[in-house]
Amino acid sequence: MYDALTSRYTLACPERGETHVALSSFRRLERLPGPSHPAVFGISFECACGKEHPGLVSHDELDWAPLGLGEGVFLNLMTARLDPLEDELADLAARHIQAGEWPWSFFCYPEERPRPVFPSSFFLLAPAQGGEAVGIAVRCPVCARVSINLVTAQHVDLPFHNDREVGVVEHVFGLDAKRAVEVFASERSSTRFDARRLSLE
Ligand SMILES: [Zn+2]
Ligand SMILES: [Zn+2]
Repeated sequence: MYDALTSRYTLACPERGETHVALSSFRRLERLPGPSHPAVFGISFECACGKEHPGLVSHDELDWAPLGLGEGVFLNLMTARLDPLEDELADLAARHIQAGEWPWSFFCYPEERPRPVFPSSFFLLAPAQGGEAVGIAVRCPVCARVSINLVTAQHVDLPFHNDREVGVVEHVFGLDAKRAVEVFASERSSTRFDARRLSLE
């Protein structure tokens, strides 16, 4: 379902059948309740047909597949059945992480610091600045609070491509994510973003 070569997810469009979308075309992500392993996320995405559709994406596909670490990678490694490209990507990812580079990051406003993050912590994405940028609402994996950053599509779509500077909404959102979503949805076009450096060093 995720193609590491094109950085696209294959999802279903009711009008066109199959469609291929980047993570930055996702609009909402919500972890579905239940004990399923890996966890499943209900998402909605903006389709090339102009409509927004629902879809399902597993936790593995969100956080690991872009790094070349597919589902059941450990089993595959043991049986040496990982295909060569994925093997290479996984190796590259491991070396980046060992060098202190993180595949994704965001600026946590309540903590006033950049933090490493995985896409499963994004819960709302919206085009901003006439499609030049993407606003992302992120639940911090460390402090659990919500921040809204303004980033490039590449920052979202390409692991290890971190914008040097991101826009940050200077607002401390409550723990109630729904409220944050409302604020984001209603104010995103006029919301003021202030620049923060996103260096993790
Ligand atoms: Zn469609
Ligand atoms: Zn935080």
